Amino acid sequence: MKIIAIGRNYAAHIEELKNEKPTEPVVFGKPETAILRQNAPFYLPDFSKDVHHEVEIVLRIGKTGKFVESAFAHKYIDAVGLGVDFTARDIQDQLKKKGLPWEIAKAFDGSAPVSEFLPVTDFADLNNLNFSLTVNEELRQKGNTNMMIFSFAEIVSYVSRFFTLKTGDLIFTGTPQGVAAVKAGDRLKGFLEEKLMFDFEVK
Ligand code: MG
Repeated sequence: MKIIAIGRNYAAHIEELKNEKPTEPVVFGKPETAILRQNAPFYLPDFSKDVHHEVEIVLRIGKTGKFVESAFAHKYIDAVGLGVDFTARDIQDQLKKKGLPWEIAKAFDGSAPVSEFLPVTDFADLNNLNFSLTVNEELRQKGNTNMMIFSFAEIVSYVSRFFTLKTGDLIFTGTPQGVAAVKAGDRLKGFLEEKLMFDFEVK
């Protein structure tokens, strides 16, 4: 399986990082070794002094798809979860300045904790989902999928032009505003609507 991630999909987050608003989805990948499941702790990597949390809705792909049309994209999403796109912001800033790929800042081991997945049939409207992140019980990030620049359908369609989607692939769909550094001892909890989706510690 593969993990595909979308950057710059919430306007207020684009502003906080002083990035340009994209005209097409910004796409990057993470390898399978980035995944943490079942609330496994996140270990701070030794190469960064500024690792940021980015809470994101994660889509799970339910069947193979290539050149998927937007109108049919929902048929390829079988479940929804919540994850964190951990980002070594100091490394990413250096790479961005040089115009180099972000991989080591975004795709390192453990950089993609994900929750359990809930079937799409559990949700009335995927385009109106509230989600949030607390750090040590304090609200840090809060978003709704109606604030996305590119909808889930547009993301699935766009991504499938370049990468064949396969059963079990995961797509991180972008983070709302409020990203900030984590430190050892922090406890991160993610909520989708009112449901606690993950609860893990930073070490
Ligand atoms: Mg992100």
